[in-house]
Amino acid sequence: MGTTKKEELVESRLPQIRALMSPCRLCPRNCMTNRHNGETGFCKTSDTIKIASWAHHKGEEPPISGSNGSGTIFASGCTLGCFFCQNFPFSQMGNGKPFTSDELGKIFSKLAAEGVHNLNFVTPTHVIPMLLEAWLSSSETAKLLPIVYNCSGYESKETLDLLEGIVDIYLPDIKYSQNSVANELSKAGDYVEVNRRTLKQMYKQVGQLEINETTGLATRGMIIRHLVLPQNLAGSEASLRWLKSEFGTEIHLSVMSQYFPAYKAHQHTIMNRQITADEYMSVLETIDELGFSNVWAQDPTESGGA
Ligand code: SF4
Repeated sequence: MGTTKKEELVESRLPQIRALMSPCRLCPRNCMTNRHNGETGFCKTSDTIKIASWAHHKGEEPPISGSNGSGTIFASGCTLGCFFCQNFPFSQMGNGKPFTSDELGKIFSKLAAEGVHNLNFVTPTHVIPMLLEAWLSSSETAKLLPIVYNCSGYESKETLDLLEGIVDIYLPDIKYSQNSVANELSKAGDYVEVNRRTLKQMYKQVGQLEINETTGLATRGMIIRHLVLPQNLAGSEASLRWLKSEFGTEIHLSVMSQYFPAYKAHQHTIMNRQITADEYMSVLETIDELGFSNVWAQDPTESGGA
């Protein structure tokens, strides 16, 4: 099989994407560290990718997981500093094993050969050059799978511009509607404006979620995720109103109830508990009142998901 358009795009843009790492401005933190010389910034990552795990993930939204699972790849490090992160052993503490691009490409190929429906890069922002290098070395089968960019929604405009035509499905969060809360909980005092600009840019690239009618699988588009937090710290209603005003009521939303106090959250007077069924139902009622029509919700009593 010849070179695909996506391969050509990755090959041609990879030098620019790699250049964004030294001095590093891959994400909005703009640490300006020289990662090619082994320096690290906020995400505690040099130009070597460490992988914590990979899986056939069946717990994503149905058009992403399908029957065989989504090929999730979890890298070490993160551009946010959420003190309640359920993935803290690798997002905050650096757990994981270094992989060369060839080694990682073989993992992508293996996942594809085993029948996953997509390659799902989880928290990819700070390691996107290495993920794309690995992707280039993966099998033809792997390269035909949709690329899912599964992120916190805290992205730089420049990096996202370079991913246009490469990423098929964006899976961003809308975490907060107040910067003061974002600063306290995730060390990102500019989260709200950056996140809203990010979501608009992603939507402009890929549009509404497209689902293959035969397979039920997503092929392109965006699903926005929102994790409900105790005592409405996520500012859910304000985010939902903004989403409606910006994208209308047909945007695909995934509203999650699975918060539990991980990492350092037990030290916080509000975040030290799971949400109540009433707190979650109140957000679902707002969604209903606003008229959103494409929503995935969880069991109100569920907690501890991936
Ligand atoms: S990717 Fe890491 S080093 Fe680069 S700007 Fe973001 S947090 Fe800083």
